[in-house]
Parts: sequence; C-alpha cells; structure tokens
Amino acid sequence: MGPMTASTGRRVLLAAPRGYCAGVDRAVIAVEKALEQYGAPIYVRHEIVHNKYVVQTLEKKGAIFVEQTAEVPEGSIVMFSAHGVAPTVHEEAAAGRLATIDATCPLVTKVHKEAIRYAKDDYDILLIGHEGHEEVIGTSGEAPEHITLVDGPEDVAKVEVRDPSKVVWLSQTTLSVDETMETVDALKDKFPLLVSPPSDDICYATQNRQLAVKQMGAEADLVIVVGSRNSSNSKRLVEVAKLAGAREAYLVDFASEIDETWLDGVSTVGVTSGASVPEVLVEQVLEYLTERGFEDVEIVKAAEESITFSLPKELRRDLRAEAAALVAERTGRPAPAAE
Ligand code: SF4
Repeated sequence: MGPMTASTGRRVLLAAPRGYCAGVDRAVIAVEKALEQYGAPIYVRHEIVHNKYVVQTLEKKGAIFVEQTAEVPEGSIVMFSAHGVAPTVHEEAAAGRLATIDATCPLVTKVHKEAIRYAKDDYDILLIGHEGHEEVIGTSGEAPEHITLVDGPEDVAKVEVRDPSKVVWLSQTTLSVDETMETVDALKDKFPLLVSPPSDDICYATQNRQLAVKQMGAEADLVIVVGSRNSSNSKRLVEVAKLAGAREAYLVDFASEIDETWLDGVSTVGVTSGASVPEVLVEQVLEYLTERGFEDVEIVKAAEESITFSLPKELRRDLRAEAAALVAERTGRPAPAAE
C-alpha cells in the first residue's frame, strides 16, 4: 500500500492467472483472421467461446453465430468453436459443401483422441462432465457406443459397464478439480480396476484459475468472478471460491451487474475471470471497486502461464499461401505449391 492510499481497510485480491487461456485466445484470433482473410460473413457454429462480450464484438465484425451446421448456406465458410465437435458435424459440413475451419482447442482434441483410442481397444469410457455441454456432446460423438456420461458423484450409483476390468475415465476440460476427484474416487470404489487417463484432461488453465481462486477465497469476504452463465470454467470458479471460504461469490458478465449491497460490510474483495473473458471486463470491475474505496490491489499469484497454440491449420495454410503469392507477385519468383 502506498503512503497516499487512504486507509479505508478496503482491498482487492486479484487472481493470477485469470482470463483468457491459450485455447480461447487462439479461437478468437482465428475468427478475426478469417474475417480479414476471406471477408464477412464467417459462420461460427455455437459461441466461439462462452462469453457474451466476445460474441457480440465478433458479430459486429461480421461473424454469424449459428446453432446447427444446417443453418449455414451452402458454399460458406464455417468455423467450429473451441469446445470441439462430433465427427458427424464434420460430415454434415462436407455434405453442405461448407469450407470448415476447426478452432477446437488442442487440449479438447487431446481428449477426443483418448476417447477414440480407448474405444478402439473396446473399453467402456466413463466421461465425467456436464450433461448438455457442447464439449461433452463433441467428445461423446467420437465413440457414442462406448461412452457413458457421469455428471458428478451422485451419478455413479447408476453407472453400468459391460466389463468392470475394462473401464477408463476421461473428463471435460473445465471441471472442478476437487469435485472430479470425488467422482473418480466413487467410481473407483465401484470399479476397482478403473483406468485413469494418460494425462490430466482438466486443462492447465482451468486448474491454475481454480488454484488462484482457492488461495484468495480463504481471505476474501466476497469474490467476483467475471464470466458468462454458460461458461463452465467460470461457474466452477464461483463454487471453488465458496468452498475455499469466501462468504459470497458471484458471477457477472459486466461490472454493471454488480449489486452495491454485495459490498456491505465487506473489506476484502477477490476478483478473477474465467478462461473466456477478455481483460477489459476485469478492468471495468476494478474501476467500479476503486470508485467505492477498494483502491488497494494485491495480486494473488498461483502459477505462471506461457502456453500458446498456433492458429487452426486451415487458416495457417491460406495465410501462408497468400504470403507466398505476395512474394511471387513482388519478386517474380514462383510461389511454392500450396499444401
Ligand atoms: S479452457 Fe482449457 S481446454 Fe478450454 S479452450 Fe481454454 S485451454 Fe483449451
């Protein structure tokens, strides 16, 4: 605290890491680059990432969000969101003569590949995740005959498998780490030979954001999580904050959704944001708090993140081809053949 700070005793704990993960960053940039490269409209199947602000901003630039591939006019470009899609969606796109750009996060693709591999080895796959979430629908679609959804510990009792010696669990990437382990423990009680995935399915970004909010939750009276209601990882942050000891925790899309009464009797506010949330929305929440005497901001740092993903391969190919064509035009040297 600097010497000029009024000693209101009010402070903000700001989680680090928070906000954009590598998969979201890549997906949002992919839509922007596609709009530049091919021009509007670019159709996007489902919200590219689960954030209202991001979706509205991209809509203004010429992206059109649709629920089903069938809504996309023949001959258009359609992008698949970071949450991934089932193979049937690729087939529908091919049937509708659509050019596709797949912005599925590589960490979701990793889970798809695990599902394909275990299904090939004829395992029963218990996929821990939230019913109806797009990622779960996409992953299940890789091997519908082999996958059973387990939506939390209370679902375990009704799970049945063909052969209890050939069962593996996988999970959605954005779950609560602690709750997932509870579900896994319950599954292991029921199926002692249950195999675990070769590496964590809950992604690094989800884990790190939960770790930071856990640290701050113990000290904060109130935790404000910036994120949309359909964002799984954001909703988990609210739960983790409460379990860690925060008296209250709320999810808001925008600073304007904060209710003044939440601050009654509060001296420490924790602030964090889900993996699909641009930093500008967090800044607005910090401004709101500053105006109400919460000027002292301390960072609660749980991890360093440096991971980034390259753009979807279809886009990279076309951006490379364009760059090569430009070289050819300016130098007279032939452009290498596109892949
Ligand atoms: S939350 Fe994790 S799995 Fe989802 S897009 Fe981000 S990095 Fe990928």
